[in-house]
Amino acid sequence: MKTIGILTSGGDAPGMNPAIRAIVRAGIFNGFRIMGIRQGYSGLIDGDIYEMNLSSVADIIHRGGTMLRSARSDEFKTESGFKKALNVLDVFGIDSLIVLGGDGTLRGAKDLYNAGVPTIGIPCTIDNDCGYSDYTIGFFTAVETVVDAISKIRDTSTSHGRANVIEVMGRRCGDIALYAGLAGGAESIIIPEVEFDIDEVCKRAIQGKNRGKLHHIIVLAEGVGNAYEVAKDIQDKTSIDTRVTVLGYIQRGGNPTSYDRILASKMGNRAIELLLEGKSGRALGVKCNEIIDLEINEALDIEKKFNLDMYNTSKILSI
Ligand code: ATP
Repeated sequence: MKTIGILTSGGDAPGMNPAIRAIVRAGIFNGFRIMGIRQGYSGLIDGDIYEMNLSSVADIIHRGGTMLRSARSDEFKTESGFKKALNVLDVFGIDSLIVLGGDGTLRGAKDLYNAGVPTIGIPCTIDNDCGYSDYTIGFFTAVETVVDAISKIRDTSTSHGRANVIEVMGRRCGDIALYAGLAGGAESIIIPEVEFDIDEVCKRAIQGKNRGKLHHIIVLAEGVGNAYEVAKDIQDKTSIDTRVTVLGYIQRGGNPTSYDRILASKMGNRAIELLLEGKSGRALGVKCNEIIDLEINEALDIEKKFNLDMYNTSKILSI
């Protein structure tokens, strides 16, 4: 019987749990032995590993976070840490590995594959910063959380006639800001991919005010800069009372949306199918609503393309 290890690493993302569930259930259904590795690469180095059964993943499809817990491990990036990880896989008889996480985590999976471990990578990060896949597991749940927050802030913004700068996550990727900004009807979206002009933001606020708008929502991606400085500039230049909300970690938590649960279930099942077909060194993704798999070395070299059309649409609709 072949033994598959699973780990979740880097920032947790809503949808990791349904993906773990899919891997365990599809794996056992197909006759594999499944080992859960706790706390990402750090737990792999420490041998924090246990055998999972069908009940191990009961009652988790709807839960955020990751039941296997997550960690960032600098030791894994060292030669000695990496060797320890390889040795632990050997000791526990793990023949292949399914790794769930963001870009850094998938680079770790690539290194393991290049060192001879049959590995499959599944992109799980709220940032949606993966160039080879349209979406990553967790992204749309984070967008829902931000849209919900925008709607609530818009209510109070309207009542007081204020502007609000809402800072969202995404590291150097503006997708959370872009998608949530469009869905939430934000007047301005400030993202790292498009050069930002404070005078234009202010002009839009003044224009909106002059035509009777009571609120002005500015969604700012964390990769751009300091939300408090942006808010101060807007207030100084427009005299509109401007407040700041930094949404922070609420964007990483919460029950995964149906879309993320379905994506996670399909990718988890597909990872097992690939191993059954004798394939590894693959990174799973989604393109035009189809689950795809690419050679992991090539996949991680594909640059993330920014959706400029969507950005321009949001600008037109929020005049
Ligand atoms: P998120 O984008 O949600 O933060 P992530 O997977 O990108 O998730 P990282 O902290 O970048 O998060 O990576 C998680 C772990 O993966 C690191 O702590 C490290 O152990 C490993 N890792 C990161 N980058 C590399 C790399 N270039 N090569 C090998 N391993 C890496």
